[in-house]
Amino acid sequence: MSQSLSSELVRLVIDVVIFWFLGLLLGYPLWGVIFGFVVFIAMFARRYHKFEKWINQGLSEPEDLGGIFEDLSFRIYRFRSQNKKRKKKLTELLRRWQDSSSALPDAAVVIDGRGIIDWFNVTASSMLGLKPSDQGRHISNLIRNPRFIHYLAKNDFTEHLEIASPIDITKILSIRVTPYGAGQRLLLVSDVTHIQRLMTMRRDFIANVSHELRTPLTVILGYLETLSEDEEADADALRNYMDKVEAPANRMKSLVEDLLLLSKLDTGAPSTPATSSVINVAAIIKNIETEAKQLSKDKHQFVFDVDHDLQLKGVEKEIYSAFINLVTNAIRYTPEGGEIKVSWQVQGDQANFCVKDTGAGIAPEHMPRLTERFYRIDIGRSRSSGGTGLGLAIVKQVLRRHDAELNIDSEYGKGSEFCCTFPQARVVFNKNGQAVEKNQIAS
Ligand code: ADP
Repeated sequence: MSQSLSSELVRLVIDVVIFWFLGLLLGYPLWGVIFGFVVFIAMFARRYHKFEKWINQGLSEPEDLGGIFEDLSFRIYRFRSQNKKRKKKLTELLRRWQDSSSALPDAAVVIDGRGIIDWFNVTASSMLGLKPSDQGRHISNLIRNPRFIHYLAKNDFTEHLEIASPIDITKILSIRVTPYGAGQRLLLVSDVTHIQRLMTMRRDFIANVSHELRTPLTVILGYLETLSEDEEADADALRNYMDKVEAPANRMKSLVEDLLLLSKLDTGAPSTPATSSVINVAAIIKNIETEAKQLSKDKHQFVFDVDHDLQLKGVEKEIYSAFINLVTNAIRYTPEGGEIKVSWQVQGDQANFCVKDTGAGIAPEHMPRLTERFYRIDIGRSRSSGGTGLGLAIVKQVLRRHDAELNIDSEYGKGSEFCCTFPQARVVFNKNGQAVEKNQIAS
């Protein structure tokens, strides 16, 4: 028997005994007993009334009700306070989860066992186009992709699913589902367009490299085979064969060199203006002039307009590769007799290295893709003039690493101008042998 019940019984017994004794004194012991019971019931009803009132009051401290009610009210009070604390903790947890989930770059959607949307975060609105009014709707009415519907119905979420975004088909979404609770499922959706694009680029790049290497390699192997079968080959024939394999071998060499350079540019840490050394650009352009004239074999007219005091903070080797690529392109894509103008001048706060030619020019539809690796307008022409299809990609990477931009202006059939624009932070002036920044000159 519980303690509170026994204390209640003790109360009853004491009550009855007192009234029995009073009844005995008055000569009515039985009435005394009955009266004792009545008084106990009346007191019990009063305490019950007080207890009921206290219960309805909420979370106030329990009153001293005695007996069974005291015990009950104390237990209820303890249960209610614990519940209140738990509720507060849960609300806090929910608030924190909602705060953190809205900061998630991924969309999060909670659906119940039937596929009805219970909750979603802010990113789900922008990524999946969900509106607040979609809460309570079936998810497959909003993401109508058959592969997604089949995936949910199959109920096997060991693998993630990739589908096109329901609001932008150019975007690819990766969906992972985690079942939890009573049939509920948490959908985490991330935008993997960028990763997919990189993977496609990597696949294309490997295919392109293999293709570019296979062509000259096939030519070399062909000549080697013919040579091995030619038992009467004399010294002249041998020289002839060697001359024939020289061009494809050189092509492979250029390709491998460009690939190695690109890989270095892709992975190496770029220089900052603070950590870079000052490059004497005029001296670089002098070397480029000598090389350009040799390559052109006097077939072009050159104009060099160089500010000898204008210098640059950067990596000399990289800048040289970018500039020589632009100049050799101008030579290769400009017919005999054409003019090539190279300028290195300050313009406002920036420094510009520009190569202008009167050559083939570029049609506007090719412009956006020119700096892509292996993108060539005319593959035959590019290869026959010794191009690897990587020149402008190298220029772009070098400029990116020097916080600079490549601007291309071209008119098909008339000529092109390629300009590298370097920001003020990279520009330095040579004043009496001292490297001075532009803002120091102004003051
Ligand atoms: P390539 O080795 O083929 O020259 P690039 O990356 O240097 O590769 O150039 C990409 C393409 O851009 C070239 O194939 C060519 O079609 C075009 N191009 C580059 N420079 C010029 C230019 N000065 N005039 C006309 N077209 C050019």
